Amino acid sequence: MNTLVEYTRVPRPTAGVGQVVIRVERAAICGTDILMYKWDPLGQQLVGDLPFIPGHECCGKVVEIGTDVEGLPEGARVCAETHIPCGHCYQCTHKLQHLCQNLVLFGHQIDGCFAEYAMIPASAVYQLSTDLSPEIACLLEPFGVSLRAVEEVAPRGDTLAVTGCGPIGLFAIGIARYMGAAKIIASDINPFRLNLAMTMGADVVVDAGETDLQEAILSQTSGDGVGCIIEASGVPSVINNMFSYLRKGGFIVQVGNPKGPVQITDVMPDLMHKELTLKTVHGRRMFETWEKSEALLSQGKVDITPVITHCFPMKQFDEAFTAVLSGQAGKVQLIPSLGD
Ligand SMILES: [Zn+2]
Ligand SMILES: [Zn+2]
Repeated sequence: MNTLVEYTRVPRPTAGVGQVVIRVERAAICGTDILMYKWDPLGQQLVGDLPFIPGHECCGKVVEIGTDVEGLPEGARVCAETHIPCGHCYQCTHKLQHLCQNLVLFGHQIDGCFAEYAMIPASAVYQLSTDLSPEIACLLEPFGVSLRAVEEVAPRGDTLAVTGCGPIGLFAIGIARYMGAAKIIASDINPFRLNLAMTMGADVVVDAGETDLQEAILSQTSGDGVGCIIEASGVPSVINNMFSYLRKGGFIVQVGNPKGPVQITDVMPDLMHKELTLKTVHGRRMFETWEKSEALLSQGKVDITPVITHCFPMKQFDEAFTAVLSGQAGKVQLIPSLGD
């Protein structure tokens, strides 16, 4: 039982200029929500003023439209883009709104979606164009991060290691399988997650708590190393070691937020002489990534239902967070019910 977080009644938000209010159909718990729930120092850094309503992964229906909002009719089904752009900085005026210099984060610095109703600035609203179920639609936001990670390393016909099998890593495995990766090696230290990785299409899973990951990957790739790495664990020791089992000329995308400083031990052989490409990803392109994600999921190209392991009424949020913290869960979802 967490005493910092409570389920309580607050006034319904209203839609100001350039804003809409949605009735939340379904929401999902993200790793950053866990940091805030535990009031971890990293989580505290993400939060604006207290008290506030957490939650940023959601879908819902527009119920109120503020002035100066175009193209979002009442009843439209939408998702929230967590990154709220300012609209006038360099990035915002060069098609890189998701990297806005003045980014405000939905469910972090402003109230989020673990509620019956949520206000979203219209600039951060993605309108669904299909009848994607709420169960899937509320996961477009994290799915988009995985899609971008896979796009950055482009593993078609190549070997891919996915380190860290939380939801982002698991979605990435499903996408990479669909996109034609030749061999997917997934690693984690949690057997429950490694099972999900197999279900999502990994060819080989490595329990990095039991087996040396570098040895395992080199033996799976004739000693060459993998052509692509999607690093989704954020664990500093995993990041520090990943350069050792990347094939020369390979591609890495760092998608897990590093939980500490990153240090490469053997700089010449593992970094300089590898001529590697290292990319980072921060969120989804607005809104191309959303459109591609919706298409992949609505057309059944990638099935993420195995990753969705729990769903609770929102007032049972403590059970929902406990399920995530148990390590025996994939994505955990919340459904608000009016009037309780
Ligand atoms: Zn998230
Ligand atoms: Zn901006």
